[in-house]
Amino acid sequence: MDNYNEIGVITEKLNIASTGHITNVYILYRKDSKEAILIDPAYDANELMRILDSNNLTLKYIIITHCHADHIAALADLLEIVPECEVVIHKEDFTNINEEQVNCKDIVKVDLKKVSINNVILIDKNVSMNLCGINLDLICTPGHTKGSIVVYEKDLNVLFTGDTIFSDTYGRTDLKTGSHQDMKNTLDYLFEKFDDVKCLPGHGEQFNLKDVKRKIRLLFAYKG
Ligand SMILES: [Zn+2]
Ligand SMILES: [Zn+2]
Repeated sequence: MDNYNEIGVITEKLNIASTGHITNVYILYRKDSKEAILIDPAYDANELMRILDSNNLTLKYIIITHCHADHIAALADLLEIVPECEVVIHKEDFTNINEEQVNCKDIVKVDLKKVSINNVILIDKNVSMNLCGINLDLICTPGHTKGSIVVYEKDLNVLFTGDTIFSDTYGRTDLKTGSHQDMKNTLDYLFEKFDDVKCLPGHGEQFNLKDVKRKIRLLFAYKG
């Protein structure tokens, strides 16, 4: 059976702190079971719970594309509300999640609580996982941070790109654990593996990867 009509995506743009810095939060869910996966709990756990509740969704998993404060600021509060929720994260960024030098709390100017994660699913290589009856490919994409990942859902042909690729550029590589060489390898890998795929980034508007490859390659070459 085609899964296409069984899976929904909710996109929310949440304003981080008062700086006007907006992060996209995505909720992926099965329409039949109403079980949900939240990608990047950026800000305001109560608002995220309100969105889940108003759609009758039960939060089962949280996927962290990387450990920057503007993607995890609601995590501690959310896990207090839904402690049984499992968190999926790359082991490098799990290690660094409370490291202020790495999570960039001060750069993003977010009020970030220390988080302790009890139910964690750590990844350290590309894996396919079935979460809530949804098949996901979790792909390691170091460059922006060492433990950055992107998430691909085949039936919708959607790639959640975190801060690795945006509609007009790639993620910055000058922050702690970032690497220009890793980003080059990551872009080479993603551009080889994917073409006509809808991308849902951590910031800004959605785009199709095939429309931005050339621009991003040129930009990388120019900056390199
Ligand atoms: Zn980031
Ligand atoms: Zn970000």
